[in-house]
This record gives sequence, structure tokens and C-alpha cells, in this order.
Amino acid sequence: MSGTYLLALISESMRHGMVLKEATFLFDNMILLFILTILFVLLLINVQGFKYWLSQTAILAVILIIHLYLLFLQQQSNLLFYLELFAFTLLINLLYVQFVVKKQNRHLQNENIELTSAAFTDQLTGIYNRRAFIQSCDKEFDRVSRHQCKKPSVAIMDLDKFKSVNDTYGHDIGDDVLKIFSSVLSEQVRNIDTVARWGGEEFVVLLPETSAEQAKVVLERVRLEIPKKKIAGAEPLVVTVSIGITEIVDLSSSVDGAIKLADNALYEAKETGRNKICIAKN
Ligand code: GH3
Ligand code: MG
Ligand code: MG
Repeated sequence: MSGTYLLALISESMRHGMVLKEATFLFDNMILLFILTILFVLLLINVQGFKYWLSQTAILAVILIIHLYLLFLQQQSNLLFYLELFAFTLLINLLYVQFVVKKQNRHLQNENIELTSAAFTDQLTGIYNRRAFIQSCDKEFDRVSRHQCKKPSVAIMDLDKFKSVNDTYGHDIGDDVLKIFSSVLSEQVRNIDTVARWGGEEFVVLLPETSAEQAKVVLERVRLEIPKKKIAGAEPLVVTVSIGITEIVDLSSSVDGAIKLADNALYEAKETGRNKICIAKN
């Protein structure tokens, strides 16, 4: 652009009154007061869970509107540029902080899920542990007593002569047997049933809306299936299981109480020859 052209532009602008009016102290302070009022209102809203970045965008938008309005009035402002710069920088910072916080939250949530699942899972077999089983039973007992549905049964299973499996084939094979048993158990029971490792070579099942006799039919499948399983590295080994079942009559009784009753039936199964199912006499 040549100097002459620039001078022509200036003189044309002056002729049409297009030159900005000088910044006034009053204007700048009115803007400042206005922005501070909005900031205060937005901070109050923030207390009630309003998103920071949204409030910051709103301030930036207001400043930009004021800017456009001043241009319309052909009014200069000493303050406006700095306010815009400040609000924009703040917005970028808040967006960044929010991004980082969200990322950390997601990480913590994932860790929380993993910890919760570890707290309720048996490490060796991958099925529920005692804690998870007790929680499931408590929920079921509560549901049945509130909705007056059919009562559940609980069963406890104990692998027969398991100590001699360890002694004969070693602890690792013993562990394999426990894993195989838990997968047979999970496969053979119904979807509505909850299986868990009670501890050692003992497993438990919660069978909702099932009488003891019906539970026996379900668990008979487990009892018959497990001896058919070939255990790699311990070929002649035939694993058998004894099972005790109790139907939950008193829903106010504790899970431990129910397991104790099932345990009495299990004791009877062991005493009368093992590899069998007995039902507790309530
Ligand atoms: P019974 O037929 O009367 O139940 O005899 P048992 O030998 O199965 O019963 P006992 O209680 O004498 O032995 C249980 C064995 O289970 C002893 C223990 O070392 C073994 N055991 C417990 N937990 C584990 C485990 O996590 N892995 C392995 N490999 N063995 C375990
Ligand atoms: Mg035992
Ligand atoms: Mg045993």
C-alpha cells in the first residue's frame, strides 16, 4: 500500500467520521464493573455445580459482545484487549485442567473396578469368593422375604480325599483339580445360580427359588460330571465330590447359619461313603 493511498484512506475515514473515539475513564470502569458483576454471578452459580469452563466461555462471550458493541459506537477502550486476553487464557487453562482431571478420574474409576472385582473373586479359580457369596445370599434372602417368592437352597461341596491328591500328585495338580472343579460347577448349574469357593477344597452354591429336591437334581449333574474329567499329568486320578444341601426355611437366619445346616448334610454324605448328596433335615 503506497503512502498516498494510506493518506487518502485516513482523510476519507475522517470525512465520514469513521475514526474511533478516544478511550474514556468512565467507559472502561463501566465495562470493568459489568464484567465483575457477571463474574460474581457466575461464581455463585458455580457453587451449585455449574461447569467452570462454561462460565468462562460465557465471560469471554460477554467481553466479545461488548467489544462488538464498542466498535458499533466507534468507542476505544484501554481495558478491553487485556480483559479478552485474560479471559481467553483462563478459559484455555480451565479446559486443560478439566481434561487432566477427567483423565485421572477415568483412571481411578478403572482402578476401582479392578479392586472391587479382585475383592470379590477367588484368585485361583476365578469364581466368586466367600465375601461375594455372602453378599449374594443376603440379597437373595432379602428379595425373597420382601416379595414372598419361592425360597432358595444353599449347598456346600467338598472334594473327597483331596489331601491325598496333593500328597500323591503334588500341590500344582491339586490346584488344577480345584480349577477344573470350579469350571465344571459353573457349567453345570443354572444361570440363576451363584457359585463360589468357600475356602480350601470347599465350594458353595446358591440356588434361588429352588427346593432341596430340585437342587439335588441340579447338583447331581456336577457330582456325575467331575469323575469323568481327565486331569492332565495325573491320568488315573478320579475326582469325586460330596455335597450337602439345605433349603432356606428361616430367611432371617444368617448365611453362616445356612451353611452350617448344609455342612451337617455334607458330614452325613462323608460319613456314609462320600461321592453322594445329602439333604439337611431342617
Ligand atoms: P475328605 O474327603 O474328608 O474331605 O478328605 P480331604 O482329604 O479332602 O480333607 P482334608 O480337610 O483332610 O484335606 C483338605 C486338603 O485340601 C488339605 C489342604 O492342603 C488342601 N487344600 C486346601 N486348599 C488348597 C489349595 O488352594 N490348593 C491345593 N492344592 N490344596 C489345597
Ligand atoms: Mg474340607
Ligand atoms: Mg475334602
